[in-house]
Amino acid sequence: MNGIEKNMCKACGRACYPGHACCPSCGKTDFEPGGFEGPATLLTFSRVHMLSLAYTDRYITLGIVEFADGTRALGRLDVDEPEIGMKLKAGTGVVRTDGLIETKGLRFTQA
Ligand SMILES: [Zn+2]
Repeated sequence: MNGIEKNMCKACGRACYPGHACCPSCGKTDFEPGGFEGPATLLTFSRVHMLSLAYTDRYITLGIVEFADGTRALGRLDVDEPEIGMKLKAGTGVVRTDGLIETKGLRFTQA
């Protein structure tokens, strides 16, 4: 998915996004990249209004989602009225622009 990948633990298979230095399940540090499959379910979200000057948005909405394989991920929600439990489609896009530097990450829209 356009270079945005989860970290999958080679020892136990636990997947994380963003990645961790060591696996939260088994503590090992050997990972392999993996893609994101299918729709995700919104677990929780928060609107952030106090943004740095690097943002041109008045606020952003961040959500934690769970994919069908159990992978949980953090990303921006492009949904006006998010509801916990709603199905979302994952994509990638710019999540922050700081001068000429663009940071890409996960963005979710309603499925
Ligand atoms: Zn592990």
